[in-house]
Amino acid sequence: MRVRRAEKYGFCAGVRIADKKVKKFAREGHRGAILGQVVHNERVVDEMDRLGVHTVQELAEVPAGTIVFSAHGVPPSFHDRARRLGLAILDTTCPFVYDIHDEASVALAAGAHLVFIGDPSHREVIGYTHDLDPARYHVLHTLEEAERVEWERYPRIKVFYQTTLNAEDFEAVVRYIESRAPETSRADTICYATKENQDAAHALGRDPEIGAIVVIGGKRSANTRHLWEICQRYKPSHLVQGAGDLRPEWFDGVETVGLTAGASTPDYVIDEVEAALLALAASPARA
Ligand code: SF4
Repeated sequence: MRVRRAEKYGFCAGVRIADKKVKKFAREGHRGAILGQVVHNERVVDEMDRLGVHTVQELAEVPAGTIVFSAHGVPPSFHDRARRLGLAILDTTCPFVYDIHDEASVALAAGAHLVFIGDPSHREVIGYTHDLDPARYHVLHTLEEAERVEWERYPRIKVFYQTTLNAEDFEAVVRYIESRAPETSRADTICYATKENQDAAHALGRDPEIGAIVVIGGKRSANTRHLWEICQRYKPSHLVQGAGDLRPEWFDGVETVGLTAGASTPDYVIDEVEAALLALAASPARA
C-alpha cells in the first residue's frame, strides 16, 4: 500500500504564524491563557497546555497576565475588555480575518445590511457579529433560514462567508437572497489556503489510483470537516485526529491511500499518520 499526499494540505499561513507566536511567547518564559482554542486541533491545545498557555472560554476566567486571541479573531470590543481587566494581549488573529472585519465595517458604514454565511457559534463568526446591532445583520447557512427572511426590506446587502467554508455549497442560499434583493453583492472572503486545500482534495478524490482517503484534523475544525465532505464525494474517506484512530479494515484491498489534513493540523501529526499507514502496509497481516 502506498500513501499519496494531496498537493496542498495542513497548516495555512495564518495558523502557522499563530502557532509560532504562541510558542515563542511560551519559550520566552511568559505565561497566559488562550481565549478558545488557538486553532481547532486538540493536539495543538495539549501542546500549548504543556507550554503553560491554557485554554479558557471567557475573558473573566483569566486572573492576570496575557490573553492570547486566536487565529479566528475576536469581537473588537474584546480588546477593550481585556485592557480594562488589566490583561496584556497577544493577538494572533489572521490578517484575512481582519480584512473581513474591515470590509464589513465599510459596508455597514455605507448602509448595507450584512449577511454572514457560516456557523453562528463559530468564534470567527462571533468575532464579526458580537458587537453589531442585531438589526443590521443575519447569520445563516441553510436555504430554509434564508427563505424565512424578508430580504426585500433591505435596499443594499453585502454577503460574507466564514473563511473556511466551501462557497459552492452555499450558492443556492446566496442566489436566493440575490433573487429577492437585487442590490446584493458578495465579498470574496473564502481564504485562499482553504481553497487550495479543497482543490487539492478534489484532485485526490479524482485520482483513479486512490482507493481510500484519510483526512486528518481536529474534531471541532470546520475546514477539516469540509475537506472530509469533499473527499467522501469520490472515495471512502475517514476523518481521524491522529494515528490512533486508523482502522486496518478501512484499507482492505486498497493499493494507494490519499492523505490530506485540515488547516489546523500540525505537520508532526500528518507525519505520524503517514508512518502508521506505511507500518500498516508492511504488517504481516496485510502481507
Ligand atoms: S484558514 Fe485562512 S483565514 Fe483561516 S487562519 Fe488560515 S490563512 Fe487565515
